[in-house]
Amino acid sequence: MIRLMRAPDLMLAQHWVNLLTQAGIPCHLTNRYMQGGAGEIPVDQCGPDIWLENEHDKAAAMQIVEGPVKNELFGARFNWQCDDCGEWLEPQFTTCWQCGAARPPGDE
Ligand SMILES: [Zn+2]
Repeated sequence: MIRLMRAPDLMLAQHWVNLLTQAGIPCHLTNRYMQGGAGEIPVDQCGPDIWLENEHDKAAAMQIVEGPVKNELFGARFNWQCDDCGEWLEPQFTTCWQCGAARPPGDE
């Protein structure tokens, strides 16, 4: 088993696992409840991790996972998070309503 990547949240992780499974790539989701248990994962890195059973599936899996996510994460339709106060904001806002900070560059 190899770790493909860490998902930003459990919903997205589950979504990726569904996509990969549909594509016929055997995969697993770990740390769902942040209970750790796997010795090789540092305690401070708890989050939903996607694991692949076969290392040779990695390239295909990355394409599946990264394609739509990049568009969503960096696309204008996706919510963004304020660097200063951590508030989550709707895509149409260019400044944080909470603290007034500008939307981070490269996040457009
Ligand atoms: Zn803010």
